[in-house]
Amino acid sequence: GTSVAPRVHTGEELAELDHRHLLHPFTPVGVSEQLVIVSGQGCEVTDSHGRSYLDGRSGQYNATLGYGHPRVLAALREQSEKLMTYALLGASNEAAVLLAAKLAELYGEPLTHSLFCNSGSEANEAAVRIVRMYHAMRGQPERTTVLSLAEGYHGTTIAMSAMTASPLLWAGCGPLPGGFAHVPTPRCAACATGAAHDGCVVPGPEALEEAILAHGAERVAAFIVEPVLGVGGIRPLPEGYLRAVREICDRHGVLLILDEITTGLGRTGVWFAHQREGIRPDVITTAKGLTSGYVPFAAVTMTSTVAEAFAGDPMLGGLRHGHTTSGHALGAAVALTVLDVLDTDGVVANAAAAGERLCGQLAQRLGGLPGVREVRGVGLLAAVEFDSFMRAAQVVGACRAAGVIVRCEGTVLSVAPPLVVTAEQVDRIVDALYAGVLAAD
Ligand code: PLP
Repeated sequence: GTSVAPRVHTGEELAELDHRHLLHPFTPVGVSEQLVIVSGQGCEVTDSHGRSYLDGRSGQYNATLGYGHPRVLAALREQSEKLMTYALLGASNEAAVLLAAKLAELYGEPLTHSLFCNSGSEANEAAVRIVRMYHAMRGQPERTTVLSLAEGYHGTTIAMSAMTASPLLWAGCGPLPGGFAHVPTPRCAACATGAAHDGCVVPGPEALEEAILAHGAERVAAFIVEPVLGVGGIRPLPEGYLRAVREICDRHGVLLILDEITTGLGRTGVWFAHQREGIRPDVITTAKGLTSGYVPFAAVTMTSTVAEAFAGDPMLGGLRHGHTTSGHALGAAVALTVLDVLDTDGVVANAAAAGERLCGQLAQRLGGLPGVREVRGVGLLAAVEFDSFMRAAQVVGACRAAGVIVRCEGTVLSVAPPLVVTAEQVDRIVDALYAGVLAAD
């Protein structure tokens, strides 16, 4: 037959088709023309009008190695030609086996076993089912409640919406499943309102213990927490918090799940953010940077104690959970390569150095400017909080016009470029923000 070259659409046509047919996650419809990205290379992406931008948000915090990475592309091509995948239900595939083994090596004992999913929400959802089934198999079927921080974010499935105490997820979505409860975020409530006040009051880890005791420890399965609240405003947990909650969980037989979907794999300048506190979780979830955004993929990694309990499942003698595409070989092959690049190319070390530069420059140049309420962050996960939603949006718009993509959620503008970002590119981002803040009114 004759081959027909694909029709090239103009920027205007794409914008129109986007508006007519595509639903966007958490994006108001028709407020402004959508940025339609058509290609990318390194830390830069190009839109449908041919304009290039420095991607100051790594897509949605996921493109950690940037765009068009030759080694990742080669891995994807090789795996797709060899075997696109083979399902793990009653069988296995080479890439998934090797990735599970690699993650075990990376975390070290006792985090030895991984289950693979396709998104962060699914990984957290699986973690909840895993901890509940684990307790049930150990003769404590009443241990079902999963506690999370009031300002945590864990995804959008129905159960993850219940676990995420956000009006955006709750309104009009009920009834939500029970078995979830929320613990005060370690953050001063008065600061959150922006009002002047004396003496901050920050709920500490004791708020977790109070919640465990209020529910009855014998009914609590797990506590899940992000080392840096992501959607909750890029807020690193106070130093010592994770160590304290680890100890509280142990005291009450409660499992600790760490959601490192945004913070893991080098984002904060170390391999995993929890390593700064020298603790080990019982279960850890990763996604986003695990495949650097090249393929949808997520992992739930757990201790041998948790994983090995499933051999004793009375119904199946195994884990009753998973998806058709769990451990998809394309994602697994990409993840294996990403892990190798992070290590051998010194990407985590670059994230640490570039992150120090980013956070330092933001604090130095933007701290104290009119309308800037706070600058915070760790590694290449930084935020500038403004006094108003309008101002944050204006700065985002000014950055875009200057060729730098950043985004805001409410009053919080977040900056999280690919981990391969150069010092010069960090400076470009900070320059754009600085000029944007000065121009905003
Ligand atoms: N957990 C955290 C900390 C996240 O930041 C996100 C996504 O932004 C999720 C879970 C949900 O992941 P996904 O959007 O892949 O479902």
